[in-house]
Amino acid sequence: MAYDPDNVFARILRGEIPSTRVFEDDEFIAIRDVAPAAPTHILLLPRHEGTTGPADLDAADADWVGRMVILATRIAREQGLDDGYRLVMNCGPHGGQSVPHLHLHLLGGRTLGAFAEPAGIP
Ligand code: AMP
Repeated sequence: MAYDPDNVFARILRGEIPSTRVFEDDEFIAIRDVAPAAPTHILLLPRHEGTTGPADLDAADADWVGRMVILATRIAREQGLDDGYRLVMNCGPHGGQSVPHLHLHLLGGRTLGAFAEPAGIP
């Protein structure tokens, strides 16, 4: 899928749409999800445009993806998610991805339910 530079996260990264930022450096920002699915729901976004989702990744991306996961664990600690949390990357329509700029969800603050419905598995 071609990268759409007008997707909502690209616009947030350019400052065209407001967001509540909990972290930023020269590589990533972390914002609060506008429709939280848990008491703490933070999205980590790479600043660079062009990566639509996990399916675009290849070996050349391993370093920054690794740094993003480690950053998520640091933010989880800072947010006090001492009892655990979930890191999620959705991919494409079946994965429930709605914004075509790769992002990592950090969810916590309560016991989370099953991450996929068992129904429909043959
Ligand atoms: P996904 O469905 O994995 O693509 O995740 C996209 C997430 O972005 C959803 O959880 C949305 O609630 C969230 N979202 C959409 N628009 C905004 C926004 N303007 N600010 C913060 N989060 C947003």
